Amino acid sequence: MIRAAVITISDKGAAGLRQDLSGPLLQEMLRKMGAEIVHYAIIPDEREQIRELLTRLADTPKGTGEQGVELIITTGGTGPAPRDVTPEATLQVIEREMPGLAEVLRMEGYRKTSLAVISRGVAGIRGRTLIINLPGNPKAVREGMEVLIPILPHALQMLRGEELEHHANSEWRMKGKMTESYPMLSVEEAQERMLALVRPLEPEWGPLLEALGRVLAEDVFAGMDIPPLDNSAMDGYAIRAEDTIGASQDHPVRLRIIGNLAAGYTFPQAVEPGTAVRIMTGAPIPPGADTVIRFERARRDDDTVEILEEVRRGRNIRRAGEDVRRGELVLPRGTLLRPQEIGMLAALGRAEAWAIRRPRVAILATGEEVIPVDQPLAPGKIHDANSTSNAAQVLRYGGVPLPLGIARDRREELSAKIREGLEQGVDLFLTSGGVSVGDFDVVKEVLAAEGEIHFWWVNMKPGKPLAFGQIGGVPLLGLPGNPVAAMISFELFARPAILKMLGRKEWDKPTIEAVLEDAIERKDNRRHFLRVRVQKEDGQYTARLTGPQGSGILNSMVQANGLAIIPEERGELAAGERVQVLMLDWPEGVIL
Ligand code: AMP
Ligand code: MG
Repeated sequence: MIRAAVITISDKGAAGLRQDLSGPLLQEMLRKMGAEIVHYAIIPDEREQIRELLTRLADTPKGTGEQGVELIITTGGTGPAPRDVTPEATLQVIEREMPGLAEVLRMEGYRKTSLAVISRGVAGIRGRTLIINLPGNPKAVREGMEVLIPILPHALQMLRGEELEHHANSEWRMKGKMTESYPMLSVEEAQERMLALVRPLEPEWGPLLEALGRVLAEDVFAGMDIPPLDNSAMDGYAIRAEDTIGASQDHPVRLRIIGNLAAGYTFPQAVEPGTAVRIMTGAPIPPGADTVIRFERARRDDDTVEILEEVRRGRNIRRAGEDVRRGELVLPRGTLLRPQEIGMLAALGRAEAWAIRRPRVAILATGEEVIPVDQPLAPGKIHDANSTSNAAQVLRYGGVPLPLGIARDRREELSAKIREGLEQGVDLFLTSGGVSVGDFDVVKEVLAAEGEIHFWWVNMKPGKPLAFGQIGGVPLLGLPGNPVAAMISFELFARPAILKMLGRKEWDKPTIEAVLEDAIERKDNRRHFLRVRVQKEDGQYTARLTGPQGSGILNSMVQANGLAIIPEERGELAAGERVQVLMLDWPEGVIL
């Protein structure tokens, strides 16, 4: 068991003028991690006093009858106020700094509030004791601890001089109340934490069509004008506008046709006064000509043409560079490559481009009962629906699915498959099943033992048990086993992760407001995602439940085009109330 000390550093706290909330919170979180709190004190912001206490606690011999402290966490005194001296006192005590710990606390804190950067907390080691400064407010303490929980076991193990052995780590964390040490997160908190650990992937050079749907990873400047030359916008006659002055139905101007010019060729001669060239759309304007008159507006007679009206100079001519100017920034990096951008690259003479590569997403089903779709069912078995639905979702959102098959509920089996994925260099693992609190839920065990878990409770329905962690540096999302829950958790978590890896900046799906056609009961305060069919009726959207909403009823997904979002705080809903609906699809018939 870890022996930890908690020190609250606060003038007001020490004088009894303010209740210490952070110290008790820290103790509670440490205890849930399986630590024993051997010392707790509230002391004022006095450098000497802090230094003295830290030194005494760290220097108590370990392994003796007295048993020393291996971890000291301070809270308070890290800010810029004149009395804040915790970091200075700590620096006097520690022998070896651990700047990474302090920085990750600031970095993660900064995601929540930019004020986190003014915390000056430090971390480091004295002898065999790890000392970490956290800011004083309870929110920062909670967030800081959430960052530290996956890191501390490794750090302390190494500090004790033990081999980094995954097994020991897992036992440490699995002890007893494993589930409770992971707080229930809101959907947004969980998404945010997950996305904080997901990075855009590298660019890759490849053929244009393979870049469709991906993000451009270079600034594309025009190497040429488009169009490259002035050319005709019509089939007609290239003429000089001044030749048509005074022309009318009654007094047509007669021009001599000196040639015929198709698109793709140039005309060898100039158009002199009194002459015209028959010209096709896209053909370059011959020298001397400044205007094109359409066939329909002229009357041909053998090798002459009659013009029946005055024509404005420059008509029906597409100017060189009118679309794109040479040297111009046409497509900035970060542009999503749709067919039109691909077309633009092609027009610029580019056959290849730099685009962020597609993430390779390993897909793994778990469960003794789950068998491959091409095998006949035996009693007690079900077909593996999730691997295929998740793979289809990966494809749909631009990833490359790599199905790794089914792992039975044995740690070694799942481990082996994950290793296989790591060897193949995957960017994301998706597992399904094995994340609830049943006896055979292996995903979180493997994650705890061989990687790290960041969270696994999300306050949503379906999909409450949802593991997120990292293994071998690769993010892993442990989706629930129920097929609907697996798909919805994919939409809410795997999809944003994939899109972020793809270099996208936006991942919210369109949400609309619709009138509920059914009443909705609820017995909890989770956020519900109900499968609905959205229709447009009389100028407004209506949403009808797609039948029973069990998280295993795949048909509720098959019938649905959207997910009605029932917020945590809403009570029962009557038919006719308005709800937000996240559109899974945006079929043509639904457009407003
Ligand atoms: P679990 O999260 O492993 O407890 O699974 C929850 C439920 O989802 C159980 O009824 C499983 O049989 C079912 N399930 C798990 N994996 C799959 C899968 N790949 N395809 C279809 N159903 C599954
Ligand atoms: Mg299972």
